[in-house]
Amino acid sequence: MHYDVIIAGGSYAGLSAALQLARARRKVLVIDAGQRRNRFAASSHGFLGQDGRSPGDIVEDARRQLMVYPTVQWLSDTAIDARQEAEGFTVETAGGQRHRTRRVLLATGVIDDLPPIEGLAERWGKSVFHCPYCHGYELEQGPIGVLATSPMSLHHAQMLPDWGPTTFFTQGVFEPDAEQRASLVQRGVTLEPERVVRIEGERANVVLADGRGVRIDGLFVLPRTRAASQLAVSLGCAFEEGPLGAFIQTDAMTRETRVAGVFACGDAAMPFGSVALAVGDGVRAGSGVHRSLIFAQA
Ligand code: FAD
Ligand code: MG
Repeated sequence: MHYDVIIAGGSYAGLSAALQLARARRKVLVIDAGQRRNRFAASSHGFLGQDGRSPGDIVEDARRQLMVYPTVQWLSDTAIDARQEAEGFTVETAGGQRHRTRRVLLATGVIDDLPPIEGLAERWGKSVFHCPYCHGYELEQGPIGVLATSPMSLHHAQMLPDWGPTTFFTQGVFEPDAEQRASLVQRGVTLEPERVVRIEGERANVVLADGRGVRIDGLFVLPRTRAASQLAVSLGCAFEEGPLGAFIQTDAMTRETRVAGVFACGDAAMPFGSVALAVGDGVRAGSGVHRSLIFAQA
């Protein structure tokens, strides 16, 4: 058996798990496709000690520190299949490599399915965001929009006035009842039922179906998320339905999935993610994998 663990996904969660295992002198292979979820944003906020840094720089520092450990290997590639065998697992990559391992850790993250509105995707991470804690402060209390994607967006619209005067574009997706309407009014939210057809300009102009435009500094939207990789499905892991999409079901302590020997952490395995949560979750998963190598059979 070549590796103790193969970690699919070498961003915040996967690197953090790898570091724990490297420090236990375990043989680790990290396979990473280089498509971090926050690659659209120039700065990352809310991670203690790293507030405002480039998300890529945080990962690059972490990777450099990890690769000093001699038992760690790095592979820039995509894991396309993982199969359970009599002993352990075989992982196959898009680049045609096959590696055997005792444990698999999925730190593969999620993909945001953005609403198909003209001008929205190219502003993702720049003036269109999902997380007010991450990007709300920098809008400097300028005008904010919330675009409804589901009834969950009500909660989003109720929160955003703490970051700036808020217009809630209900989009025909969500019709607030009298009580919800009163709570929005009480928070100072302006309701806009006319459909958004396009976003244009710098910090931006929201164009409505009737031709009016609403100027905003930032637009908040809650996209549906889905697993960035099918590995959990092919390994037979169970999923849980979260408010924004499915995530891999794991043990709260060890982060082992319902398939023995397969672990998961980070955005892939939680209902809402952040850099700090991914890093913390990686610590838990790394030590979970390590303890399973010591205390379990296989
Ligand atoms: P990711 O960082 O998404 O990394 C997953 C990695 O796995 C990627 O490199 C991917 O290519 C790789 N991968 C996937 N499948 C495979 C495969 N089959 N084989 C090999 N590799 C694979 N959070 C904050 O705390 N602060 C912020 O300011 C912030 N800003 C954000 C801005 C935007 C626009 C977005 C969308 C998110 C933001 N987030 C922010 C959230 C943050 O990006 C995620 O919570 C965090 O990246 C999760 O880390 P992760 O390691 O679980 O997954
Ligand atoms: Mg990311």
